[in-house]
Amino acid sequence: MDGRQLITDLSFDELQTWLTELGEPPFRAMQIFSWVYHSMISDWPEMTNLSANLRQRLSSLAVLSSLGPLDRVTSADGLTTKELLELRDGETLESVLMRYEGRQTTCLSSQVGCALRCPFCATGQSGFRRNLTSGEIVDQVLHFARQLRGEGLGVTNVVLMGMGEPLANYDATWKAIRTLNDARGFRLGARRFTISTVGIVPGIRRMTGEGLEVGLAVSLHAPNDSLRDRLVPANKNYPLTELIPACRDYANATHRRLTFEYALIQGVNDGPQQARELGNLLHGMLCHVNLIPVNPTAGCDYRPASREAVASFREELNGHGIANTIRLGRGVDIQAGCGQLRSRRQPPVS
Ligand code: SAH
Repeated sequence: MDGRQLITDLSFDELQTWLTELGEPPFRAMQIFSWVYHSMISDWPEMTNLSANLRQRLSSLAVLSSLGPLDRVTSADGLTTKELLELRDGETLESVLMRYEGRQTTCLSSQVGCALRCPFCATGQSGFRRNLTSGEIVDQVLHFARQLRGEGLGVTNVVLMGMGEPLANYDATWKAIRTLNDARGFRLGARRFTISTVGIVPGIRRMTGEGLEVGLAVSLHAPNDSLRDRLVPANKNYPLTELIPACRDYANATHRRLTFEYALIQGVNDGPQQARELGNLLHGMLCHVNLIPVNPTAGCDYRPASREAVASFREELNGHGIANTIRLGRGVDIQAGCGQLRSRRQPPVS
């Protein structure tokens, strides 16, 4: 494995310290930060305001990216691109670029694999390998930002909804957000980020104290503990009586509307009774429910809810005054669901 320092693993202050220890003046940090996050170069020789000697020395000590492209698929409409990327130790991760009118959203992985084993999720089925470092998270954004720049576009939104559980890799995830938010570098506003979580309550509580208005999406998928224990096993540790108050507090502290994700699974969680329970659970909360007919995966026989079931589920939620939208299988044709491209190459471990 390449033991060189990954530059994007360093905050601005850490970069400054690192350079000082090499005997370089403090202003070098600003030069390099600017090359990495404004010019988005991926190789040392391109840093033309540094001497050839220094560039040579830096390239022997550090790398500017941790990711190499392995595979890429684009949906038929051209709007969703999913990439399989290889890390320096040979592990792989997936990142997705979604294009909308006037905005480009990257969906990032926070871990290689995932330990939480939600039965319907392809990443969960493949098990946990390791946490990503903050630089490996940052690099996913830079990877797409370089591609978009050629079209005169940039990354406008970042969602941590790819492989892994971001709040189970809290420090690296938040460091990546702070690095990308840094006004001296990439300058992506806090409100442009969304963290999606199974509902790790201590992590949500910690986020509440960060002082950044990052969006929070919670993968709810069930309105009561007995069903949620099955669909989201982490619920056994953080039941709804703890999760929902943590969500309310986060919404109140950040003044941001929370998103609840709810994968509709035929005959499991898509009935009128569950819709009513969900309506009662979320009553009076500043929130929005994202309904997603479950995306079938190889390791699980759950089927998506029927069109009729989805319609009556929505009607029930509307009756409770709960804002909701239906997210219709974006990128389903390219298996853009969580973990699916990676598991096509690498069969699940038992
Ligand atoms: N671990 C985090 C983020 C990664 S998953 C979390 O659970 O929120 C991103 C979202 O995709 C989650 O809401 C997850 O439940 C959902 N998801 C995973 N597999 C899915 C599938 N097969 N069909 C529909 N949604 C799925």
